[in-house]
Amino acid sequence: MVDITTDVMVIGTGPAGSATAALLASYGVDTFIINRYRWLATTPRAHITNQRTMEVLRDLGETVEEEAYQQATEQDLMGENVFCESLAGEELGRMKSWGKHPLSRAEHQMSSPCRMNDLPQTFMEPLLFKTACSRGAQSRMSCEYVSHIQDADGVTVTVKDRLMDKSFTVRTKYLVGADGGNSLVAEHAGLPLEGKMGVGGSMNILFRADLSKYVAHRPSVLYWVMQPGADVGGIGMGLVRMVRPWNEWLIVWGYDINQPAPVVDKELATTVARQLVGDPTLEIDLISASVWTVNNMYATHMQKDRVFIMGDAAHRHPPSNGLGSNTSIQDAFNLAWKLAAVLKGQAKPKLLESYSQERAPIAKQIVTRANQSIGEFGPIFEALGMDGGVDHDKIKRNMDGRADATPAAERQREALRKAIAFKKYEFDCHGVEMNQRYVSGAIDADGQKEPAFEKDKELHYAPTTWPGARLPHVWVFDKLGKQHSTLDITGKGHFTILTGIGGEAWVEAAQTLSKSLGIEVKTRVIGPRREFEDHTGDWARTSEISDGGCLLVRPDQHVAWRSFKTSPDAEKLLSAALKKILGY
Ligand SMILES: Cc1cc2nc3c(=O)[nH]c(=O)nc-3n(C[C@H](O)[C@H](O)[C@H](O)COP(=O)(O)OP(=O)(O)OC[C@H]3O[C@@H](n4cnc5c(N)ncnc54)[C@H](O)[C@@H]3O)c2cc1C
Repeated sequence: MVDITTDVMVIGTGPAGSATAALLASYGVDTFIINRYRWLATTPRAHITNQRTMEVLRDLGETVEEEAYQQATEQDLMGENVFCESLAGEELGRMKSWGKHPLSRAEHQMSSPCRMNDLPQTFMEPLLFKTACSRGAQSRMSCEYVSHIQDADGVTVTVKDRLMDKSFTVRTKYLVGADGGNSLVAEHAGLPLEGKMGVGGSMNILFRADLSKYVAHRPSVLYWVMQPGADVGGIGMGLVRMVRPWNEWLIVWGYDINQPAPVVDKELATTVARQLVGDPTLEIDLISASVWTVNNMYATHMQKDRVFIMGDAAHRHPPSNGLGSNTSIQDAFNLAWKLAAVLKGQAKPKLLESYSQERAPIAKQIVTRANQSIGEFGPIFEALGMDGGVDHDKIKRNMDGRADATPAAERQREALRKAIAFKKYEFDCHGVEMNQRYVSGAIDADGQKEPAFEKDKELHYAPTTWPGARLPHVWVFDKLGKQHSTLDITGKGHFTILTGIGGEAWVEAAQTLSKSLGIEVKTRVIGPRREFEDHTGDWARTSEISDGGCLLVRPDQHVAWRSFKTSPDAEKLLSAALKKILGY
């Protein structure tokens, strides 16, 4: 006898789980989500919210996207990434980050209808969770996943209600483990993980203090403090992170992972804050303190039959590059429409295999990138003479030396400039955020070769409609001249074909196939006197197809298949592509 039945059960209400539930509920799927605690995130761990994640929120609806912007710190206040001896002390260098540099901002604006912003996890989770529950997801707090058993038809999950101290069982067709970096679901499903946990130790000190006088003139999310005595470990040096401008802060401070984790009391927290701010009389209002470990681990496979893992359960890495919550929400965007299509009988279960095929390589990529970014602080330490141990007097002499009028000091200044500029691979890494391209059974590239990246693929986004890539954003215009992103006229749980004048055969084919396959394929025609117009010519320059060609776009806005031109066999071609993608 089971107590609850559902179509999809989600373990965890973090960014991954809440996003999954919000998307599934929006697609009309019966969803049940639990969290072992009584409420959502209580500390603002994740914050950098990139454009691709904002596109997922936009796809959930204008109100969701708008609420995120209202609660976030805007992009203009994020990017004067300062390296200093202390907030009150000498500034050592600066790097315009997170799309603050005008050239980078132009790329951001051309790539997406959405803006990067700083949205602490304490705001993101309630927004996603509220969206899920208000659209029909069922939820239970203070309920802990204990175990699961799966068979050919479903999964039986045992849950412990921590309030009542009782167990209950849930029968679900699919189980999603979004239960974080210590995922029990991943462990119980026996999913393979590579790498190492606990490669560094860090502590978080969350506090209130008005630091406007040190920072408001150089607005940033991150202030990196490098001083004799700022011991290297964990994340590398002292970090003062803005949570709310300019009176709520999170200090991240490393500790030696080979020693027992320190107990961070008010006294230690105040000492660390005073040292990094550089004000020996600073009074802080301590909100909380916690310790955590830096991990370097990823799942090489994210599905075991009817069980899936996502988010930190599948990719465990340091906060560098701000990719954790972003990738978690993007995992959800990839899986949710596939589960919906299979549950509605529109696709075969084989479609679900593409989730791991598409997302496991991303898990590896971002874990590798985030850990590499920690290592790339090395040249800054070297340039400041901080790489030779903890001789504080020597470090002080080296740091002072950079102001001398000697050839050696000039070389040191040059080395520091270069080392700071190189950190764009952490702080302005637009390509890593936007260039996700998939190769899987749910993509039909039809033998077309992936276009080469002309610029550094980690730093720069390269738009393409090559099947597997995210549909490029371009503004197109309706009859009233109002602009809509190509991402706005696709997605929202549906397949869409984009075509132009001369592409009528694709429209007819899509309409016929919608009926015969029982899956609605929306049609959008772009061209003069059509539903959308390409007044600026940007679509013609970007689409990489002729007017009569066709792009088949998946519900998660990735191009699934394309034809360069019209065809007398439009229905046959589109049908073959759709069936392949849907796992027939
Ligand atoms: C200091 C810091 C800064 C960061 N900055 C960024 C950033 O700027 N941008 C970014 O994208 N990421 C950032 N991250 C990473 C980000 O916080 C994580 O990647 C993100 O929270 C992962 O989301 P998740 O939903 O997978 O897991 P989690 O947020 O860990 O959520 C897991 C959920 O599962 C629940 N759970 C666990 N076990 C059980 C169980 N047995 N039963 C029931 N429920 C269970 C938990 O209660 C929780 O609700 C940062 C992390 C840290 C530590």
